[in-house]
Amino acid sequence: MLRVHSFESLGTYDGPGIRLVAFLQGCNFKCLYCANADTIELKGGSETSAEEIVAMAKNQKPFFGKKGGLTFSGGEPLVQAKQLLPVVKALKEEGFHICIDTNGSILNEDVKAVMQFTDIVLLDIKHIYSEQHERLTGKKNEKTLAFINYLKEINKPVWLRYVLVPGYSDNPDHLHQLGAHFQNFENIEKLEIQPYHELGAHKYEHLGWEYQLKDVKANTPEQLDTAKSILTNYFKEVVIN
Ligand code: SF4
Repeated sequence: MLRVHSFESLGTYDGPGIRLVAFLQGCNFKCLYCANADTIELKGGSETSAEEIVAMAKNQKPFFGKKGGLTFSGGEPLVQAKQLLPVVKALKEEGFHICIDTNGSILNEDVKAVMQFTDIVLLDIKHIYSEQHERLTGKKNEKTLAFINYLKEINKPVWLRYVLVPGYSDNPDHLHQLGAHFQNFENIEKLEIQPYHELGAHKYEHLGWEYQLKDVKANTPEQLDTAKSILTNYFKEVVIN
């Protein structure tokens, strides 16, 4: 059984086409800007079987079109890789397109098995420098970088995602470094720049946690354009989401 925090139908943000998005409960990071802070706690969520998810997918199939399908997000979906495996296997047997939206910090045999049934990995890279990554997420980035190396090895399509946090992850030199690190990864199909927003702040407050980025303002259009023009030097496609 998977522990699911919530579902979103007709999602257009997490992968190609129109998608059913399952937000799984539990995350091993605690990002300063997490928009889904109520999914971080490992406990909670509703137990949901593979059969229930396959039935939901079949119901929504007419909306998926040629490109759409299912995305498992969170939280960190690969925290539950063992429970996720039979779900993605069952969905793949029914021909559904599957994306996994992950922070890439977990790589074990279950995760490798899940990858066999995954079409695209939406890989969140929070920062190319480990210390800055730790400042943003509470964890260093070596495991995420190792995970991306593994995806390169198995030639798994990746959409890289990068949240542009003013003062934390928008330094032009760091963006060049990020691009230079990944420029020879043929499996990375595109980079999505995700503007910083404060939408997660109220959830932090609701949980009784301090929202440490309250003085950080949303990106200006110029900041987004600067980041895009830098990163365009390194990736096949760069979009601002
Ligand atoms: S990895 Fe994602 S779900 Fe986990 S804390 Fe960070 S933003 Fe939130």
